Amino acid sequence: MTEAAPAAGKPAILLVEDDVITRRLIARQLRRAGYAVEEATDGVEALERIREKFFPILITDWEMPQMDGPTLCRKVRELELEGYVYSLLLTARQGKEHLIEGLEAGADDYLTKPPHEPELMARLKTGARIVALEQSLRAANERNRKLSITDALTGAYNRRYFNEQLPAEIERCRRYQHPLSIVMGDIDFFKKINDGYGHGAGDEVLGQFVQLTKRSIRATSDWIARYGGEEFVIVMPETGHAGALQATEKVRAAIAADPFATAAGGIPVTASFGVATLLPNGEGGGQTIDQLIAAADARLYASKHGGRNRVTGE
Ligand code: GH3
Ligand code: MG
Ligand code: MG
Ligand code: MG
Repeated sequence: MTEAAPAAGKPAILLVEDDVITRRLIARQLRRAGYAVEEATDGVEALERIREKFFPILITDWEMPQMDGPTLCRKVRELELEGYVYSLLLTARQGKEHLIEGLEAGADDYLTKPPHEPELMARLKTGARIVALEQSLRAANERNRKLSITDALTGAYNRRYFNEQLPAEIERCRRYQHPLSIVMGDIDFFKKINDGYGHGAGDEVLGQFVQLTKRSIRATSDWIARYGGEEFVIVMPETGHAGALQATEKVRAAIAADPFATAAGGIPVTASFGVATLLPNGEGGGQTIDQLIAAADARLYASKHGGRNRVTGE
């Protein structure tokens, strides 16, 4: 018999059953219904597979060598996985107490063996519905979280994220005895850009400033937040002072290189920067976050007074 290719949108199933004949039979039914199925022979193997790859649906036999179905369900619930695992327990026994034990172990549903094919499919549809609902809630939460930490105009992180995240970054760098640098950057004569080209063009400049900066910094660890109006802060974890100065010089040069292309025409843009570094072991007087920000800010103003379009680090 030819089996249907797994249908898009159907959740992947891990089928756990020690009895080969039963497992093959159920697997075939599931594949015929368009589910992608992987098989495991007991709880221990199943748990290993789940750690390696996420399965939204788990169908597990109750009695198995090494680790039984309820134990497997309980252990799956303890794992931190990327989504909810809908668990369906197969049992050869009928008693109510037995069933309650399975549900209490974390199973969502149960079926007596051998499962009646249409019933199994109907129950799986319920499971798939719950899995889809959980995934869409998770995605919505993720979108909301992103919105709540992003500056809508520029796509940079917002001030709130900066306030939340910087202490955590600093803590991590301290723990691993790494330095951390922050850079305050401010667009030069931005008021003139607004006045000369219009507020819309000013907005475009802010967006492009962030894009260009992101392209110049280390994508995996450095990040940029909008600190206020046309002022930004770049956080460079695990970066010492010399490295931060070098990286900031790259950003400065990228901003100044070519006029920004906007709907109002090409606009020459420059920005000024101040760099401050927090050293591990409280070297440099064990600065607080506020002192670190104040140091970067003072250096930014030194750049402004020194003629703008420059980086100051001391
Ligand atoms: P400096 O070189 O000393 O930094 O001069 P500047 O003109 O850049 O600084 P100033 O602080 O005088 O002006 C900043 C301007 O940025 C004033 C404000 O209207 C404008 N601004 C703040 N937020 C936004 C925004 O979201 N969009 C636009 N288009 N302008 C903004
Ligand atoms: Mg068994
Ligand atoms: Mg400015
Ligand atoms: Mg400013």
